[in-house]
Amino acid sequence: MKRFNCADVIPGCDHSYSGETEEELLAAIAAHAVSDHDFDDFTDDHRCMVRGVIKEEA
Ligand SMILES: [Zn+2]
Repeated sequence: MKRFNCADVIPGCDHSYSGETEEELLAAIAAHAVSDHDFDDFTDDHRCMVRGVIKEEA
């Protein structure tokens, strides 16, 4: 299981996501970034940043 805490990249955001695959997580995170953080687009740079803070959980 992989987990992403949005606060790791957007301090103060209390959303977190978990999923079986990184792709699944990235899809949910991209939607969250656009709708909740007013991102115009979710770019490859953003994906890299997110991948850097995704944690593995048992
Ligand atoms: Zn967030």
